[in-house]
Amino acid sequence: MKTIIEPFKIKSVEPIRFTTPMEREDILLKAWYNPFMIHADDVLIDLLTDSGTSAMSAKQWSGIMDGDEAYAGSRSFFRFEKAVKNITGYKHVIPTHQGRAAEKILFTIVGGKGKFIPNNTHFDTTRENVEFSGADAVDFPTDEGKRPDFIGDFKGNMNIPALKAFIEATGASNIPLCMLTITNNSGGGQPVSMANIRETKKLLQGYGIPLFLDACRFAENAFFIKLREPGYADKPVIDIVREIFSYADGCTMSAKKDALVNMGGFLALNDDTLARNARNLLIVTEGFTTYGGLAGRDLEAIAQGLEEILDEHYLTYRLRSVAYLGEKIIAGGVPIVEPPGGHAIYLDAKRFVPHIPPDQYPGQSIVVELFRAGGIRSVEIGSVMFGKYDKSGKLISPPMELVRLAIPRRVYTQSHIDYVIEILLDVYSRRKELRGLRIVEEAPILRHFTAKFEKI
Ligand SMILES: *Cc1c(COP(=O)(O)O)cnc(C)c1O
Repeated sequence: MKTIIEPFKIKSVEPIRFTTPMEREDILLKAWYNPFMIHADDVLIDLLTDSGTSAMSAKQWSGIMDGDEAYAGSRSFFRFEKAVKNITGYKHVIPTHQGRAAEKILFTIVGGKGKFIPNNTHFDTTRENVEFSGADAVDFPTDEGKRPDFIGDFKGNMNIPALKAFIEATGASNIPLCMLTITNNSGGGQPVSMANIRETKKLLQGYGIPLFLDACRFAENAFFIKLREPGYADKPVIDIVREIFSYADGCTMSAKKDALVNMGGFLALNDDTLARNARNLLIVTEGFTTYGGLAGRDLEAIAQGLEEILDEHYLTYRLRSVAYLGEKIIAGGVPIVEPPGGHAIYLDAKRFVPHIPPDQYPGQSIVVELFRAGGIRSVEIGSVMFGKYDKSGKLISPPMELVRLAIPRRVYTQSHIDYVIEILLDVYSRRKELRGLRIVEEAPILRHFTAKFEKI
């Protein structure tokens, strides 16, 4: 087989500012060892997130110039609406400034005290928006999905027997809707199978509970289905995508992921009453129904991005380039969540630095060292992001301690990734030297964005 090449040429470039390990030690100190507080200019390779970091295409940029900025009924809105309907088939398309704005609107309407929202695994903003409404966010990952060392095709799946038991125990009337996150971001970027989506829908249908997709990475999930699920190898990706959406009643979407733009999102759904309520809230909090917190030019870029994301040469390259990073570091012994996910590699910090206990934030210590050694910015997904305290102030840790290396779409070349591999192998060889951290200041919600750390 020939090398899978980047399916694009580079027309516009941004310089990278080089720094030394000594300079980066100082940068880390000033940022309180929190990658979110590091200035982006001080980062060599930025793998903090794949959200809003995509390189847009020449056609998207020309769409930016062509955007119609009419307050109501802009041409760009109708192009956007058509593009979303083309993939989802949903009746109502409501633009929002990003994914969490769609979540906020949805859960303000359906959430509230005494309600429960199940999901395979809630993403952090989804969980916060559910809980902010007064409802409870509950996760149903499969047992395989909880095991970083287990190699499976669809580790993002919903645990259907557990979901069924939960519905029986809780009562369907307390569950206004069920979410399914594709791919399962917090669960390691792992895909959900078509069979699992279909069966989740079938179960919910029996109880009259609507299914909503958290559809941020629908195209990456669809391509995993094409590569791994029997019966889909010869189907065009667009057909797989449409089948996925056909099993759900609506979706929330961050266009900053699989719509290849820097800002945007939407809520799309079939129910007329829910759509009317959502549009009323949209007007109060986001903007009029045909722009919803976005400029006409943003809507143009999303519409174009939603076409480009379905290019199978792009998706082949995308999944392959993430897997390439994963395979090379696995070969060097680095423990990761296997197999590699669609948008990121997740280091398994529990096995990487077993000498650092969860309450000394093993993932954060790796994040800090990757930056110091190589100027690579990553993010902890473990006790920092999801840790809670019990009544006595003791940390309750989530099941996994991970470090996410998210790969921005169409941004870095293979040599950038080769450099990341070299740094990772170097840090892994010195892993016994890594030390834990303690938190010296933190916010009550989404603490990982602003927490300040100190080395132990
Ligand atoms: C990014 C993301 C969101 C939130 O979207 P924003 O655009 O960042 O507000 C929700 N769910 C998942 C799975 C995500 O990856």
